[in-house]
Amino acid sequence: MAMQTLKQQIDALASGQTTSVALVTESLARIAAHNGTLNALITIDADKALAGAAAADAARAAGDTRPLLGVPLIHKDIFCHEGWKTSCGSKMLDNFIAPYSSQVAENCDAAGMVVIARANMDEFAMGSANENSFYGPVKNPWNTQTVPGGSSGGSAAAVAAGFSAVATGTDTGGSIRQPAAFCGITGIKPTYGIVSRYGMVAFASSLDQGGPMAHTAEDCALMLNVMAGFDERDSTSLEHAKEDYTRELNTPLAGLKIGLPREYFAEGLNADIAAAINAAVEQYKALGATIVDISLPNTKLAIPSYYVIAPAEASSNLSRFDGVRYGHRTAKTGSLDDMYEQTRAEGFGAEVKRRILTGAYVLSHGYYDAYYLQAQKIRRLIANDFQAAFEQCDVIMGPVTPTTAWNIGEKNADPIAVYLEDIYTLGVNLAGLPGMSVPVGLASNGLPIGLQIIGNYFSEAKMLGIAHQYQQVTDWHTKAPQL
Ligand code: GLN
Repeated sequence: MAMQTLKQQIDALASGQTTSVALVTESLARIAAHNGTLNALITIDADKALAGAAAADAARAAGDTRPLLGVPLIHKDIFCHEGWKTSCGSKMLDNFIAPYSSQVAENCDAAGMVVIARANMDEFAMGSANENSFYGPVKNPWNTQTVPGGSSGGSAAAVAAGFSAVATGTDTGGSIRQPAAFCGITGIKPTYGIVSRYGMVAFASSLDQGGPMAHTAEDCALMLNVMAGFDERDSTSLEHAKEDYTRELNTPLAGLKIGLPREYFAEGLNADIAAAINAAVEQYKALGATIVDISLPNTKLAIPSYYVIAPAEASSNLSRFDGVRYGHRTAKTGSLDDMYEQTRAEGFGAEVKRRILTGAYVLSHGYYDAYYLQAQKIRRLIANDFQAAFEQCDVIMGPVTPTTAWNIGEKNADPIAVYLEDIYTLGVNLAGLPGMSVPVGLASNGLPIGLQIIGNYFSEAKMLGIAHQYQQVTDWHTKAPQL
């Protein structure tokens, strides 16, 4: 029961084999047993969840046939949801109860899903290890000495631990794919603009994108159907016709051209990961795919470019946290300037401050041309690399991360070492492309390995089908940690 998929829950609810109250009760029991160790959740509201489940069961009994009605859900604590604390992993928003809902939360509500908890995350989604949360680190359910990845580490750990079959996440530079890889689950970051950013606390607006995290590609498709859609309240939301993301799940893969970028298999890639990716590629060949050797020559520039652009946007977005309108305000008295300074000094953690300082620097007069503008030019070159590659292949495959999950605390003294772990994920965000992570093995240290699938714009349905076909003939997505 614990490792049920969303699809299984939908079917069990529809056939009357289970009820929402039973599913929510089971989730709450697992949370009670394991969240103390994992610290995957910031807020748990059992009363609200059970009341929502009872209402869902009553609605179903009265003839409501919405398929996801009554399914337990955990939201990353970045999505505003009316009445729920929305902390974004920060002391700055520790006292913030959202007065309105994000489009994503509204869409999940409209589908009848029952929110049981809010997932821990890196502060303002800045991180790759979930060690930057004001609420403390999340532990990886596969080995509690190790990190779950970040910034959606709470969502990934929650799904891996069976707290819910699905959770929401966001991905600015890898934060859905990387924790999905570290925790052995499936996640997809859609094409930029597919999922509304309205009510999703902003980190780097030109990169941020919400998406689902689940056990299977099929579950991600079902969840993306709920999450995606045009929203006039987000000026970068795409007026893209509503799609059924499950429509290509059963498309055979014969003739599929998979591009393998040589830069993704170069120096620095862990040998177990390389072997697992190669084995997955062999599996795809057996399913009828052919392999094309491709190059993404500007791959090594993704890190310097991203770590200029993302902090630049963050320094602007985070200027709203000033202690005046909402969130933390210092108790110390002084001038208005003192109040701003003290509030921000107290409210933000070290990594967030590092990003704000970097961002303000690269945007400042005299440095804008040298850093920010250059980074934007590189961003274009990286996007062009992908378009050139898609002339030769249908999808790109490679690793999500150069290593498996590292030990908690191991990289604390060296933020650059953590940034380097983002080498394979950042390009996708810079180009605005969809990318996903699919579990394809366990390393000799027992930790999960993710295969990254990168598609061209709007190819989510195709990518989900490609992942689903693999999951029909392999069982890595069914492997669960011993808790
Ligand atoms: N690890 C990257 C960062 O720290 C990406 C985070 C994200 O995708 N939210 O910025």
